[in-house]
Amino acid sequence: MSKWFLPIFNLKTDSMKRVLTAFVLLFAGMSSFAEVDYRVIPLPQKIEISPKGGSYVWNRSDVREILDLKTDNPEAYVITVNKKGVTVHAATKSGLFYARQTLFKSVANEPEGDVLLPYATITDEPRFPYRGVHLDVARHFMPIDFIYKYIDILALHGVNQFHWHLTDDQGWRFEVKKHPALTEKGSVRQRTVIGKNLGIYDDTPETGYYTQEEMRSVVAYAAERNINVIPEIDLPGHMLAALCAYPELGCTGGPYTIWSDWGVSPDVLCAGNDKVIPFLKDVLAEVCEVFPSEIIHIGGDESPRDRWKACPKCQAKKAELGLSRESELQTYINKELDKFLSERGRVLMGWDETLEGGLSENAMVMSWRGVDGGIAAARQRHRAVMTPGGWCYFDHYQLKNTNPQDHNLQPLAIGGYTPLSKVYSYEPVPEQLSEEERKYIVGAQCNLWSEYILSPEHVMFMLLPRLAALCEVQWTQPEQKDFEDFKKRLPAMQNIYKQRGYTYCRRSE
Ligand SMILES: [Zn+2]
Repeated sequence: MSKWFLPIFNLKTDSMKRVLTAFVLLFAGMSSFAEVDYRVIPLPQKIEISPKGGSYVWNRSDVREILDLKTDNPEAYVITVNKKGVTVHAATKSGLFYARQTLFKSVANEPEGDVLLPYATITDEPRFPYRGVHLDVARHFMPIDFIYKYIDILALHGVNQFHWHLTDDQGWRFEVKKHPALTEKGSVRQRTVIGKNLGIYDDTPETGYYTQEEMRSVVAYAAERNINVIPEIDLPGHMLAALCAYPELGCTGGPYTIWSDWGVSPDVLCAGNDKVIPFLKDVLAEVCEVFPSEIIHIGGDESPRDRWKACPKCQAKKAELGLSRESELQTYINKELDKFLSERGRVLMGWDETLEGGLSENAMVMSWRGVDGGIAAARQRHRAVMTPGGWCYFDHYQLKNTNPQDHNLQPLAIGGYTPLSKVYSYEPVPEQLSEEERKYIVGAQCNLWSEYILSPEHVMFMLLPRLAALCEVQWTQPEQKDFEDFKKRLPAMQNIYKQRGYTYCRRSE
């Protein structure tokens, strides 16, 4: 901005300032005028620029907000820009929040100071009610400060569910007051395998957990940004960190060590031990105290049956319940916890394996082993969230070149190849479903498993800009989606990443 422009900010009245700013912007900053077109990421459903032209000089903050919108969608909003100013109509505070986000993103790349907003009406609402992003903090712990930053990133992309994967074989990160050894012992991993399970280990302990107070603060911070926090306690497999703290809960009794490798451990909770269900209820009771989320995730994935087959207690329980297969022992555990959560007004969510033994009417399913779990869930009238590995696993590589010599392009990853274009192409509602069944697909989510993701910067690199692509899958109607158009709008979003100091992958395929 040139110096002769500055004195107008010393003018005494706002109206004089606005008239002059409009005059100056029109002659000196036509490019600035042309750039505000409200075509942000995620793309709003309907943008109608006034055919008569005209624009309003906006100070980037004054918005008349009115809660009078008649709509079934609590996140819908309408922005009107005319000579009277900027008015937002919404049905709830969530709608107001998204209207402000669209306005903020529309002008984020404009030079500082007042901006010219073309007269327009923007009518918008998200396509799906569930728009999730996951983070695994068990394999590599992420400091609490970064969790706040993560929530900011999610909010910028219109995400409304943060799925927090808090426990696993490699670390327990959720404070449980009744069972303090879970974090005292379960949050300390002595060493970690280097590279791709090469059998070589570092000697650096990986430690850390969140106090209940810290997690409550995160929940409140997220709620201000229209984000619900869904905690996950993964069970009955992925439990080595808990077994390390309480070996009597396992089939063999241990001793156990917190796993320094990646993969699926054969050691799981003993389904025949009468202490196990009360233990899990203790944990979930504290989970429910900390997290007001209606949805509580109990994992349920990758739980091998080897120990149960060889364990006298598990075999006795199987006989007592008249079960024919070991897998039904997991169903038995799920049903106990499903009932416990339902009584507290909560809804159980599990990975798609949990569907195999049948779930209560309300329970939700997260489809990760492809899309079949989501299809089966919808056909059984369970709400399903689509997170198929091929499109939604952001721990995969995002660039084709995975040559270790070129690891300055992208660091070592777990595998796969899920570039930006593939994420953008994803359609969460499977064609096989009938009109009625489609209603049960409530949204999509990306997952960030942290075996190979070592730091907050690394998390952001894997997430961005792929989340920009996913958020149009989650928010925008399929007929509006156009990858070439998206790529034209992406640099404006990347400028916001730069302004905020977010790390992101600068190449995209
Ligand atoms: Zn057992």
